Formats: sequence, structure tokens, C-alpha cells
Amino acid sequence: MQKIIRFYLRRFRVVRIKRKTKKRVSKKYLEHKESARILATQRLEYFNQHYNLKFGKISIRNQKSRWGSCSSKGNLNFNYKIALLPSHLSDYVIVHELCHIGQFNHSQNFWDLVGETLPDYKKLVTELKMWSIKARVNPLIG
Ligand SMILES: [Zn+2]
Repeated sequence: MQKIIRFYLRRFRVVRIKRKTKKRVSKKYLEHKESARILATQRLEYFNQHYNLKFGKISIRNQKSRWGSCSSKGNLNFNYKIALLPSHLSDYVIVHELCHIGQFNHSQNFWDLVGETLPDYKKLVTELKMWSIKARVNPLIG
């Protein structure tokens, strides 16, 4: 009898914790989604004065798997948490994705392109990895 009650209590607690986390995450997403969109749009325009590339739609996503990605059609996706990064790191994520329109790979040519506007990109890669742990985002970048 005791055991059964404890079992149900534990199950109940697990379900509650899961619900709470989900709610908090989506609230944060809604809170920062628009500022992330404004940030991405403004910084893309700024850096694209240098690159002059043609990019498609900008989407802001709630995802743990990455900071950003670029589709083969040139659509750019960003994690809403870029709005919570220090500006030199959100700039790095934004430039990284923008440069994929010019180079759809991670070749040296790609990194040279990133380096045209962010010469210290290697330092930024390392710093972003540390922030990824704090922000609970996979440090990989698409
Ligand atoms: Zn990449």
C-alpha cells in the first residue's frame, strides 16, 4: 500500500516538473522572440553592407539543438536566445549564418569569409561554447 502511494506521488511529481519547465521555456521564448528578430534583422543588414549576399526569410526558433542554421534556399533560422547573448557573440552567430549563403560548408573559404568582418572569430567560437553550457543550447552551430 505504502509503496503504491509513493509510486504515484513520484509519478505525479515528475509530470509536474515537466509541465513547469515547458511553460517557463515557452514564456521566455515569447518574451525574447521579437527582440531576437529585431536584433537578427538589424545586424544582418549591417554586416550585409560588407557581404552583399541575398538571404531569404528570417525565422526565430525555440530550440536547444543549435544557435542558428541556414537552409539551401538561403533562409536563416536563429535561436531566440541570441537575444540573451553578449552582442559580440550574437554578432558571431549572425555573421556565421550569413556567410553560409556565400559558402554552404565549413571550409577554410567559409572561415575566411567570416574573418573578413570578425577577424577574431576563433576566440568567439570558444567563448560561444562556454555560453552554450549556461544557455543550455547545443554549442554546435549550423
Ligand atoms: Zn555553420
